[in-house]
Amino acid sequence: MKATTSDQLNIPVIHQALAFKELLPDQHMVDQGYTSAQILVDSQRAYDIDLFGPVPVNQHWQAKAGQGYALSDFQVNWKNRKVRCPQGKSSKAWKKGKDAYGHLVIRVEFRHRHCSACPVRAQCTKSESGPRNLTFQIQENYEALQKARARQQTKEFEELYAIRAGVEGTISQGVRTFEIRQYRYIGMAKTRLQHVVAAVAMNVVRAVSWLEEVPLAQTRQSRFAKLAPVS
Ligand code: SF4
Repeated sequence: MKATTSDQLNIPVIHQALAFKELLPDQHMVDQGYTSAQILVDSQRAYDIDLFGPVPVNQHWQAKAGQGYALSDFQVNWKNRKVRCPQGKSSKAWKKGKDAYGHLVIRVEFRHRHCSACPVRAQCTKSESGPRNLTFQIQENYEALQKARARQQTKEFEELYAIRAGVEGTISQGVRTFEIRQYRYIGMAKTRLQHVVAAVAMNVVRAVSWLEEVPLAQTRQSRFAKLAPVS
């Protein structure tokens, strides 16, 4: 796979290759670059894999603590294709569409008369006179994303995800010591060969450090962070 390919596009390729070798895991630990609602659903559906990693949080202003009514404050009734707002009002329109990335989404709108008379309107919309609108993913993706967002708040998630400790350190060592981001050669074949040589060299360096009982490095702190008082 080329380094320029987005992380998310790599997931199906990785799963396909693992399936071919009959090495599919039950759980696949990844960082946030690899997760999206669609990939979570596809991994589960196609390969029965629990893609385990942090998912993006809701970035809308309403979702920021104490600021307003976010999507999670609304109740979605998938069967009746209605959404109930925190003030108990029902949406009027439910339309399927596509977002800017071509993903299927649902768009709903609340009634003008409800929103214009709403006592908590300022917590819901910044529109001067329009009603609240919501855009969210189709049911399977929506539920997978909400489930993943809830899971990543738990202690169990934190403990299990700690298994990835060292992965970023390995990449950092590769970049800083073995120059894996700047290769000396042109062409995929030679670049791949240098990747393999760098990986072997890294393993040798690490094995020697382990045999010589070199202590692990501490996580680096920025100069600014070092100024903070230690409690
Ligand atoms: S502004 Fe509209 S959607 Fe928001 S809480 Fe009030 S009535 Fe409900």
